[in-house]
Amino acid sequence: MKTIDINQLVRKNILALQPYSSARDEFKGDAAIFLDANENPFGTLNRYPDPYQKKLKQALSELKQMPTEQIFIGNGSDEVIDLVYRIFCEPGKDKALTFSPTYGIYEVSANINDVPLIKIPLTAEFQPDLNLLEPQLHDQHLKVIFICSPNNPTGNNFDHIETILQQFDGIVVVDEAYIDFSERASLINLVAQYNNLIVSQTFSKARGLAAARVGVAFANEAIITWMNKVKPPYNVSALNQEAALDALKQSTTYDTQKKTLLEEREKMVVALKRIPLIKKVYPSAANFLLAEVSDANKIYAALTNKKIVVRNRHSVIQNCLRITVGTPEENQQLIQELQSLQA
Ligand SMILES: *Cc1c(COP(=O)(O)O)cnc(C)c1O
Repeated sequence: MKTIDINQLVRKNILALQPYSSARDEFKGDAAIFLDANENPFGTLNRYPDPYQKKLKQALSELKQMPTEQIFIGNGSDEVIDLVYRIFCEPGKDKALTFSPTYGIYEVSANINDVPLIKIPLTAEFQPDLNLLEPQLHDQHLKVIFICSPNNPTGNNFDHIETILQQFDGIVVVDEAYIDFSERASLINLVAQYNNLIVSQTFSKARGLAAARVGVAFANEAIITWMNKVKPPYNVSALNQEAALDALKQSTTYDTQKKTLLEEREKMVVALKRIPLIKKVYPSAANFLLAEVSDANKIYAALTNKKIVVRNRHSVIQNCLRITVGTPEENQQLIQELQSLQA
């Protein structure tokens, strides 16, 4: 059980912030005539959306067994990441930390917010290195640790997350964009035990809504309240809220697509391992595979010539390609192309 004073971690200007109060904030009852928000009275998308996405949160609350007050909805998880920097990190002074290689947005967002990011290299097994982390935990300017599990681009689940939560009294963000594809349980149950934990998930991967931009954060109510104060008032459009609600109702589609993708992932592992130019296929708990090849730049270019695009990760892990699991037909074509290339 951890009960950190969250306000003590919040930037001074944010603590003092008088948040914007929208028309929809100030009037919450049922009315027949809305003349309060300068909207055009005609049309179907003419009204501002619910700034707190109550219907969507209600549905998520039932699905995840989490009170609505502990749920934040963002314009993609990228908004959640940016808000964490803006709420907790004093530009040019406070620091954040992550285990690299990992999702690139933590670093871009750190740079945008002028927050130095400490990057601790993963161990050879792609795990967080607690020995390298330990000395950093004494840095009083370290405010946030970003942990991506399953990790992008390595594809594996991270160990030691709870140890890090026990040892660190700043904010710990666990990015679970790929948790649906993992056999490990989500850490959202730990939110009740660690009030400095933010678990972020997304509708962009297993839920199939990357175009809609809907990210979710689960955390202690104090943190969610700060996120609500700092976000743009209407950060998730009505269309996106609808799309997300609809996706939650399509639970059979979700289940069957997930099952197909997991089966395809395992088929691809077997097929890829038979191809001579593939040197190694790392185990994956996500909907992609990290593969070491003979020459990543060359193979990436050859695939592009065949109109197949994978992610070249050579710059972060030598000669590695990250391959998303596609439809059975797409995967089959990729395998055929790779078989036809010279090692
Ligand atoms: C794809 C991905 C996301 C999704 O971000 P959205 O802004 O929700 O689309 C988040 N985190 C990681 C690690 C990802 O790979």
